[in-house]
Order: sequence, then C-alpha cells, then structure tokens
Amino acid sequence: MAYQDANQGGGSTRPGMIDVSSMNIRCSNPQCEKPEITELPFMPKGTNGIYCRTCLPKFKNRN
Ligand SMILES: [Zn+2]
Repeated sequence: MAYQDANQGGGSTRPGMIDVSSMNIRCSNPQCEKPEITELPFMPKGTNGIYCRTCLPKFKNRN
C-alpha cells in the first residue's frame, strides 16, 4: 500500500518519484540546461537548494 503513496494524482511521475511540478521548483544550478524540476525522489522542505538529478551528484559532493 505505502508503495504507491508518492504516485497518486496521475501524470507521468515514475514509481518512487514525487510530482513537484506544481511547486515550481527550479534547479539551483544556474548553468543547468533543464532548470525546471518536475519530480523528486523525496518531498522537499522548500524550493531553494534543490538540484535536478543531473546536478545533484555534482553539488552533493561539494558540500
Ligand atoms: Zn540541474
């Protein structure tokens, strides 16, 4: 049951991903070629400091 909690509401969100397209989150990497984030593997606490899947590994290691 809990397995599908993050996949409600339809859309094209993949299993295990949370649809955050309605939150207007943008990748915090100014050089990101795809700054708009539509889904995350977790529920963000805010809209700042969020990176897309491409940028996350890069900045994650910098911290
Ligand atoms: Zn990015």
